[in-house]
Amino acid sequence: MSQSYDDQNIFAKILRGEIPNDTVLETEHSLAFRDIQPQAPEHVLVIPKGAYVSYGQFAQEASEAEIVDYTRAIGEVCAMLGIEPARGGGGFRMISNSGRDGVQEVPHLHVHILAGRPLGRMLARAE
Ligand code: AMP
Repeated sequence: MSQSYDDQNIFAKILRGEIPNDTVLETEHSLAFRDIQPQAPEHVLVIPKGAYVSYGQFAQEASEAEIVDYTRAIGEVCAMLGIEPARGGGGFRMISNSGRDGVQEVPHLHVHILAGRPLGRMLARAE
């Protein structure tokens, strides 16, 4: 079952400038902004500007320019936040919730970058 893109989702509205955001980085094809309900001292969302729902769809359908831009934007955000362990930072967790089982609330591809404290185990015990 494929999921069509809902252009009324909140990140589409942010990209159109209809609602504000706390921008960390903007590039030609990507936007990074602070999560409105941070779950760690650093909590930044990175989204492509294109209409993609999930990382899987993006990886298959986006242009090479979009994919390179998005990947570099994630790296740039980690560098800007000083959290990159390869450069002496304390590290981070990157999460991309997708679809029903991934419990994705906003149906526009985003990665969460979480950092600034020990983040515990990756998943809670299965219910
Ligand atoms: P997900 O469950 O992975 O789809 O996460 C969606 C994230 O978007 C949540 O962490 C929300 O706190 C965040 N969010 C929702 N609305 C906004 C907004 N207007 N600005 C920034 N972050 C938002």
